[in-house]
Amino acid sequence: MPIYEYVCEACRHEFDLLRPMTQADEPAPCDSCGSRESKRKLSLCNAQSGGKSIAGTSAPSCSGCAGGSCASCGH
Ligand SMILES: [Zn+2]
Repeated sequence: MPIYEYVCEACRHEFDLLRPMTQADEPAPCDSCGSRESKRKLSLCNAQSGGKSIAGTSAPSCSGCAGGSCASCGH
């Protein structure tokens, strides 16, 4: 399971969460204030792709943006 980084919109707390790729874009509960107004950070995109083959994708991609909507990864 990949690790995703989130930032809480309510208190700006940043936290990591280990979760399935299918849940990557779902709001994660802030472990500081409990708010679910969090957004996934995209900064881990490139780091996540190193070395591992990702099921279902043939193009160079990252596990953090299976949907292809990640502008910061360039795909
Ligand atoms: Zn918070």
